[in-house]
Amino acid sequence: MSIPAHCGSCRRELLLDQLLQPSDGFRCPFCGFAFAPSYATVAPGVAARILDSHAALVRALGELQSMAGGRLQLDRSAVVAPVADVLPTEPQPA
Ligand SMILES: [Zn+2]
Repeated sequence: MSIPAHCGSCRRELLLDQLLQPSDGFRCPFCGFAFAPSYATVAPGVAARILDSHAALVRALGELQSMAGGRLQLDRSAVVAPVADVLPTEPQPA
């Protein structure tokens, strides 16, 4: 499961997977816009950590859900809110 994103310059959609190669410089594959100019060498690793941990969280939640079913209900907002809170809100389509 990848994570779609939008370039802040050309607005085209890309996938976080497309930014994992440090040699690519963490740039927009379409217009070349540098997403993290001062951190181009470390940002791809951070992106990889996001993809790995996101997948691991979704997998673990699914596993627990299948084990416990309705007998245990995690507080949905407590799971989702800390993630939502660190993301800027998506710009509305013009
Ligand atoms: Zn772009």
